[in-house]
Amino acid sequence: MKLPRLQLYTKILIGLLLGAVLGILANRWGFSDFVLTYIRPVGSAFIRLISMVVVPLVFASLLVGTASLSDIRKLGRIGVKTLAYYLCTTTIAISIGLLLANTLRPGTGLSQDVRTRLTKSGTQDADARIEAARKKPTVTDVLLNIIPTNPVKAFVEAKMLQIIFFALLTGICLTLIPTKRSEPVINFFEGVNGVMIQMVHIIMKIAPYGVFALVSAVVADFGLEILFLLLKYSIVVIAGLVLHVVIVYSLAIKLFSRQKIKTFFRGIRPAQLIAFSTGSSSATLPVTMECTERDLGVPREICSFALPLGATVNMDGTALYQGVSAVFIAQVFGMGLTVAQQLTIVLTATLASIGTAGTPGAGVITLAIVLKSIGVPLEGIAIILGVERILDMCRSVVNVTGDASCAVVVAATEGELKSR
Ligand code: ASP
Repeated sequence: MKLPRLQLYTKILIGLLLGAVLGILANRWGFSDFVLTYIRPVGSAFIRLISMVVVPLVFASLLVGTASLSDIRKLGRIGVKTLAYYLCTTTIAISIGLLLANTLRPGTGLSQDVRTRLTKSGTQDADARIEAARKKPTVTDVLLNIIPTNPVKAFVEAKMLQIIFFALLTGICLTLIPTKRSEPVINFFEGVNGVMIQMVHIIMKIAPYGVFALVSAVVADFGLEILFLLLKYSIVVIAGLVLHVVIVYSLAIKLFSRQKIKTFFRGIRPAQLIAFSTGSSSATLPVTMECTERDLGVPREICSFALPLGATVNMDGTALYQGVSAVFIAQVFGMGLTVAQQLTIVLTATLASIGTAGTPGAGVITLAIVLKSIGVPLEGIAIILGVERILDMCRSVVNVTGDASCAVVVAATEGELKSR
């Protein structure tokens, strides 16, 4: 079953715009509660539906993809390329963020009075998030945690890295046992994979309504009262994100593949819109996989490896956001940052973005790691929470686009990108 691509895109876009209009009206005329009570659940249902598919889809498609790679060395090559791409683009993203925040200085120019009030305005929400960040495990814990002690528990808790690890091992082992035994298993999971893809097709039919509900709720709740300071900060983050997408991904596609940049951005649009409205690259994963395979011509075995991994560890948008935020908060507190501190930001924001889950608002929790490493008070997080949701939506778009661009680049360098 083929989805009419443009038509779906247009419908989602209309949903988004109508949602924004309703949100503004609700906020202005005081019926936000109505929107939050009666319309938001439609959006929540959409997110739940799409999240429902993530675990079985990732497991089945990764297992089938790996098992179909007759040459295991190829998997190693794809793995190295994918990780190298993710690491490079993340570092570039943070550098763009730092460059912009240092030149445009969004956190400066505050009067002493405003600064004192702002830095004191710790909310409960901020306290909870700061507390969560303080409990962050060490690097060794994070690495050890990739190995599930009980795969069933990993499925139940949707631990993506553990599921990826288990699926990869299972797929590899399937290639090592006699075909007579492996075939029924592979056939079964091919069936599961097909069913999940079909489910995504169906869920996407209600995407325009889901997007409408989600956007109207955010705008109604959030309101249009943005402090000038936060506006400046948001503009710097968004400008950085746009620059990263336009320059880095376009360049990567142009340099490493023969795909037209227009084809790439048109193909990935539905996933971008879903990422924008859900604020979650994990929840968007089924759509990203669908777009990347069908519209960008990346073979399944590469999609099913690069994309689930990317949705878990590759967060260029989040890394850029953390870079800008760290400098911004330091500026608000009147602290100058040395070159060494800025380099520390590059390092810690790379690690923090890898550790960020692809769920809404996860990046602001791991931002605490970055702030702590350069001695900026964690309370600064309270200042940016007001615009967190909208920036989360924007950076999720970049996170998802980065994953898809990686899949295209890896497929092209393997000589396996189908022309579209
Ligand atoms: N919401 C982002 C994502 O899912 C992660 C973040 O909070 O930065 O991609």
